[in-house]
Amino acid sequence: MRLSAQHRKKLHKVINGLIILLALGVFVYFAIQTIQKKEMNIEMQAYAGSAMGTAVKKTLYSESMEENDAADAMIDTCLEELENQISARVSGSEIAGLNRNYAVDGINTLSESVASYLRQELLIWEESEGAFSPCIYPLSSLWGIEEGNTIVPNTTMIESALIAIDASQIEVNGNDLILHAPNMQLDMGAAGKGIACDEIRTRLCETNIQGAVVSVGGSILAYGDKGDGKEWHIGIQNPRGVTGDIFGVVDTPGNVVVSTSGDYEKYFESGGKRFHHIFDPSTGFPADNGLISVTIICENGLRSDAMSTACFVMGLEKGMAYAKEQGVEAIFVTQDKKVYVTDNMKNKFRLQSEEYELVR
Ligand code: ADP
Ligand code: MG
Repeated sequence: MRLSAQHRKKLHKVINGLIILLALGVFVYFAIQTIQKKEMNIEMQAYAGSAMGTAVKKTLYSESMEENDAADAMIDTCLEELENQISARVSGSEIAGLNRNYAVDGINTLSESVASYLRQELLIWEESEGAFSPCIYPLSSLWGIEEGNTIVPNTTMIESALIAIDASQIEVNGNDLILHAPNMQLDMGAAGKGIACDEIRTRLCETNIQGAVVSVGGSILAYGDKGDGKEWHIGIQNPRGVTGDIFGVVDTPGNVVVSTSGDYEKYFESGGKRFHHIFDPSTGFPADNGLISVTIICENGLRSDAMSTACFVMGLEKGMAYAKEQGVEAIFVTQDKKVYVTDNMKNKFRLQSEEYELVR
């Protein structure tokens, strides 16, 4: 059917009118949403406690105190369940049970979640060329730093522990785990707090919590926002300050985990030397490469926690290259208090201490 010029003109007018109406509708919809958000009365509540052998702090934002309190209890339950599943130091946990009792080359069926954590850890072991070991427990328990030991183990014992921490002897097929050597023991200590942040985020998504900052030891989950759509400002622990003393702040939207590993967390001193709890699997000794702290920021909590440990072992040059290769953000601090950051962090990280120098 052919339309006359007059009809075509009319049709254009109608279509233009409809487009304007539609645009107006969209505008009104978003304007109402913004006003509603502004009018939302957001309640904030801070909670402190401990779990997984470390301090836990939560700052929760929602429309009611009841919702904040319920989320606080939910997070505690989540941490307890996780610790009872993955901690090598809790005798009834899935990991501890496996460490106590497995047959070389035999099949052990893991829970779906533990199998998934282990697969991700093995990937990080591979990527970090062995700097991160998911089965470091024979070495970490020999040093016993977490348990308060203050004596350097003898070299023969360190050497025999080194044989048992070789992750190339771990095979995971689906949920089946096969350990190909004797005396092996898994240790999820270096990724556990990041895993906790991931699990907490999953559960927070099922609540009406608008925003949260939850720190589980050195891993901090930034979630949602305060109801104002603005970024969070996450403080980074001063590696040479008292607990809670921050040396810089990271500005970030609420979808990340910020994990820091350092030589200040758990250590003892002997003969003027500091022996801390992050080990170099190639030497069996605490990593000693001039770094005192590494922070990794990315969406995946397990990766952020495990990579902060891996990069700490790898040192500034290799660790920075690894962080860049994986597209995660990083902050490295050296013994001489120089701070090195990935490119994107240059306008996201704000130094707050004059003791440190940001290298640009
Ligand atoms: P924190 O637990 O203090 O937050 P990390 O995340 O760096 O610090 O984890 C340290 C723990 O990880 C140690 O206590 C030990 O159990 C384990 N660990 C130490 N060195 C390594 C390593 N090279 N690879 C994997 N795990 C490690
Ligand atoms: Mg870690």
